[in-house]
Amino acid sequence: MTMTEQARDAKPAAIDKERLRLKYREERNKRLRPDGNDQYLQIKGQLAHYLEDPYTPVVERAPKTDHVTFAFIGGGFAGLATAARLTEAGVKDVRIVEKGGDFGGTWYWNRYPGAQCDTASMVYMPLLEETGHMPSEKYAHAPEILAHCQRIGRQFGLYDNALFHTEVTSLDWEAAQSRWIIRTTRGDAFTAQYVGIGTGPLHVPKLPGIPGIERFKGHSFHTSRWDYDYTGGDPNGAPMEKLADKRVGIIGTGATSVQCIPHLARACKELYVFQRTPSSVDVRGNGPIDPDWFADIATPGWQQRWLENFTANQAGGSAEEDLVQDGWTDLSKRIRAKIMLLPREQRSVENMRAAFEDSDFEKMEEIRNRVDTIVRDAGTAKNLKAWYGQLCKRPCFHDAYLQAFNTPGTHLVDTDGKGVEEITENGIVVAGKEYKLDCIIYASGFEVGTEYKRRAGFDATGQDGIKLSEYWAEGMRTKHGIHVHGFPNLFFVQPTQGANLISNVPHNLTEAARTIALMVGHAQANGFKEIEVSREAENRWVELLLTAVGRMIGGPDCTPGYYNNEGREPGPAAKLNVGYPAGALAYFKYIDEWRRSGQFEGVQFR
Ligand code: NDP
Repeated sequence: MTMTEQARDAKPAAIDKERLRLKYREERNKRLRPDGNDQYLQIKGQLAHYLEDPYTPVVERAPKTDHVTFAFIGGGFAGLATAARLTEAGVKDVRIVEKGGDFGGTWYWNRYPGAQCDTASMVYMPLLEETGHMPSEKYAHAPEILAHCQRIGRQFGLYDNALFHTEVTSLDWEAAQSRWIIRTTRGDAFTAQYVGIGTGPLHVPKLPGIPGIERFKGHSFHTSRWDYDYTGGDPNGAPMEKLADKRVGIIGTGATSVQCIPHLARACKELYVFQRTPSSVDVRGNGPIDPDWFADIATPGWQQRWLENFTANQAGGSAEEDLVQDGWTDLSKRIRAKIMLLPREQRSVENMRAAFEDSDFEKMEEIRNRVDTIVRDAGTAKNLKAWYGQLCKRPCFHDAYLQAFNTPGTHLVDTDGKGVEEITENGIVVAGKEYKLDCIIYASGFEVGTEYKRRAGFDATGQDGIKLSEYWAEGMRTKHGIHVHGFPNLFFVQPTQGANLISNVPHNLTEAARTIALMVGHAQANGFKEIEVSREAENRWVELLLTAVGRMIGGPDCTPGYYNNEGREPGPAAKLNVGYPAGALAYFKYIDEWRRSGQFEGVQFR
């Protein structure tokens, strides 16, 4: 009997919860570091070349000093969806300001081989119905998503006014004219009646602060700036033929690595995967979308129905059917099934947490057992097992990642939670051993826990000279995650303090886009110059948010990572990084009713 057959036929052993809790704690403690987020390097100065755009040359242009009705900072899904809804609402001059060389945001930068969405395309890709695009696969690959962003840009006429390779440096409210003045790295100083901000949570790449990082003499790049000139191949998956004689090291085994390692394993002469913490990798089950099936289901309103159904299954509802059917909806259905086993009167928060833990232990055991069924070398398989709750880190789903470790020439270098020790002129050192390399790829992620102003690159100055960074010093304060008192005509497009639906971020964005377009359309139609949330309404919203029972994602007992501020006490401000207490599904229902009422409760038009 092969190992695969043995594992398949083995009866699931009873789970020793105490042993697991202990193991999780040990593994977490091994990884806790006093420097938390400071272990990472901000990419600047000598390292600034890691940020350069390898995809589009920068084109000289004259600075803009004109006026537009709506300026949007960020040309990813948030900006595209909002701009699309605004044009539908009759606002013709929307200007998107974007640091990349085209629309796409995440999908502009992340062109590493194998990049694909890990939430189903049918709900992940915005405006499918409006553009008439049928995703080619259940989980579309990056080139298709980037092309979709460009399609939205073209269809809604957003290219003419857009400013690419442009970063905002300041945003100041000019009260006398009821408008914002926006300054940028390209010398622009233009005004806009309204401004939207959708810069995304993960747009600033970071490097690990490993001693000697600047000494390496070989080639190196960050995964979000993939150097196809060096590797050969292309984002569509063409073989990276230039790596055939190369020894390549990749640092990091998060969601990005899980997707690109199968491609590197195929291409490199030798591939060394430097791992600090393994990802949990469950079944993907990708496949093409059948046009006949799609034609049947794509009746008017189909995408909204799918969005609502996904959220109902994934975040708090109890839908009768599950349209998407994947690891995300399965995860929630398992937890719900456990809770439903409890008599109604026993469904306390404590018991629900216990049910969640039980379900998670079962799932993670299944995921760990899966490693043994795939990875041939027992030592490698052991090291690829994740010892933490599934939602402590971004859950990964892939059908070729674990298999890649069976490829001759692919080596897992596990660092037992310690990370890479040193980088030398010639390569990487772990446990005193130097691995000589031609190229180092940093799959080390993006800044999350650093100061907002540092990540955004600008602060906003609102009424009476108040800075947003000061106003939010003790935590984010908004209504609906969109408006901030003292900052009229400024709108945020992001999940926090709204639905906070992490499993499908674009759904948060497309809902915010609708809300903003409705308000701006109303102001334009009625001759109002300013839209602002009242202080009382903002306070009420924040008080409501504080009644939330806490989060299931990245709790303090989790292994360190960006979901839990690298395992450190996040500080009092973090208690406001929450969503609508009744959950994402309830938020979407609430905001739909808020819009339909036509009352704009809490928001003043002047
Ligand atoms: P992550 O932050 O998830 O991963 C960074 C990796 O670098 C971790 O494995 C980390 O280890 C490792 N690392 C950091 N420092 C060291 C060190 N000194 N030595 C060795 N290893 C080190 O970044 P990703 O780019 O993988 O993913 C970021 C996020 O982007 C995801 O969580 C997800 O939200 C999103 N994403 C989504 C995808 C999708 O939807 N298709 C695909 C890819 C990314 P440790 O875990 O120990 O900190």
